Amino acid sequence: MKHELNINNAATRVVTKKWGRMSGNNIAEYINLGGFSGLEKVLKLKPEDVIKRIEVSGLRGKGGAGYPAGLKWRCCAGQTGEKYIVSNFSNCDNTNMIVNAMIHNDVYSAIEGIMIAGYAIGADSGIIFLRNTQAVEYNIIRAALEQMRSSKILGKGILKSDFQFDIQVVMGKNNAEKGQEIIILRSLEGLSPVTVCNRPHSAEAGLNGKPTLYHSMETLASVPAILEEGYIETKIVQLIDTENDITLITEVAIGSSIGDVLEREGIPTEGIKAFSFGESMGAIFPPDRLGILLDFDGINNAGGAFGNAVIRILREKECLVDRVMRCYEVSSVECCGRCVFGRMGTAQIYETLKDITKKRGKADDLDCMREIAEAMLLVSSCNQGKCAAQMILSALDFFQNEFDMHIRRKTCEAQVCKGYLSYYISPEACDGCGKCLSVCQRDAIEGEDDYIHVLVHDMCDSCADCVSICPNKAIRIVGESTPKIPDSPIPVGSWKQSRRRR
Ligand code: SF4
Ligand code: SF4
Repeated sequence: MKHELNINNAATRVVTKKWGRMSGNNIAEYINLGGFSGLEKVLKLKPEDVIKRIEVSGLRGKGGAGYPAGLKWRCCAGQTGEKYIVSNFSNCDNTNMIVNAMIHNDVYSAIEGIMIAGYAIGADSGIIFLRNTQAVEYNIIRAALEQMRSSKILGKGILKSDFQFDIQVVMGKNNAEKGQEIIILRSLEGLSPVTVCNRPHSAEAGLNGKPTLYHSMETLASVPAILEEGYIETKIVQLIDTENDITLITEVAIGSSIGDVLEREGIPTEGIKAFSFGESMGAIFPPDRLGILLDFDGINNAGGAFGNAVIRILREKECLVDRVMRCYEVSSVECCGRCVFGRMGTAQIYETLKDITKKRGKADDLDCMREIAEAMLLVSSCNQGKCAAQMILSALDFFQNEFDMHIRRKTCEAQVCKGYLSYYISPEACDGCGKCLSVCQRDAIEGEDDYIHVLVHDMCDSCADCVSICPNKAIRIVGESTPKIPDSPIPVGSWKQSRRRR
């Protein structure tokens, strides 16, 4: 699959305008491209005037909620005592490469944004939070901060002013420590990374009970651009079209339609079966919804997850049930486990989807999943559970026929779900290890040690559990080139001899 930064073609470059123009995160090059001029300007303004600029710009949090940034800044500025800026640089899932692309291509814009925010609200320290999987990015950020300290742009007497500010980088301890504000703040406080309902607003009592301005990396990276002429609100999106072997990242003006974005990036809109916005956290739509506008309300009202801006295109060779099942696999691992419906609902829907892909779907599965998802939507404590619910509900609303084909007609038209395929054991490849026999719950495999094993089709329900466990890739899909196979187990080695004799 091609992984491209299609930024050079992007019609709109606000946050990404320095991408591709620096060799790594070199501070001298950043300064030559006008870097830190926003901070320099700000240090000559009153903090109140900076907050007004942010309010007038209309900047909204790009991490998902779309909360007006100016309101948060004003609320924090109005608090007294020690304050923090916490910036979420963690990637929300393993597919989403946007944050890491920002860190690798220009980490300074976001750091400059943190410092401008610190000056405006009266904070003298900031924290950058990363996921436990971002060790490379951790080192990049630390090196960038070090360059800033030696250039007297971080620490005391910043840019020869009285402003002092420092930043530390913290990595989460486990996979669950990412994404959501409450989870990240609790992680930084050394508490378990779960959602709680009764936490006060961070701007008043956030990290360690102190006023805290919390923003995503992309929100803060937009801040220096606001101090220049002609600022427009944008969103960095990642487009994935697996069948056409395309993965790219680009920046688009807020308010563009998804169809326009695809066309501009050369992704064919013909032959699209479905598209999703938000990966494991967002809804899945039919192609007649390509007109959905890429803005906070357009995406969130449609059930997508604006913060996780991955747009995935599904075409005819991809199975929608399999896709939703894979998203639930991720959600069931990433759910913090705090609320019953988030934890149990996600797990239950995942198990049901797995059964459907293994040809074990039952007539009432769809109603059952809908009932669970509707409850998740109502009572999950955080967005993780609600977004997972949106995904299955949208899939059931728009693509019920594809689920019906699996459950009632026992067909996966895309031929993706392994459960709808038939298997045989290749007598040439089987070495009689017996691993398949031990995982088969249907007693559909016959054999003993050092005997070529045989799969009994009448007993097999095509669950495919044996396929992945076979060390010799001996369990194969029945197709046009299926060879002759023994009727019952025979000693390893005897098959070739008996074939030669014939
Ligand atoms: S099919 Fe694979 S797992 Fe089963 S006995 Fe043969 S080699 Fe072992
Ligand atoms: S696919 Fe393999 S594990 Fe599953 S029922 Fe058939 S033989 Fe058994």
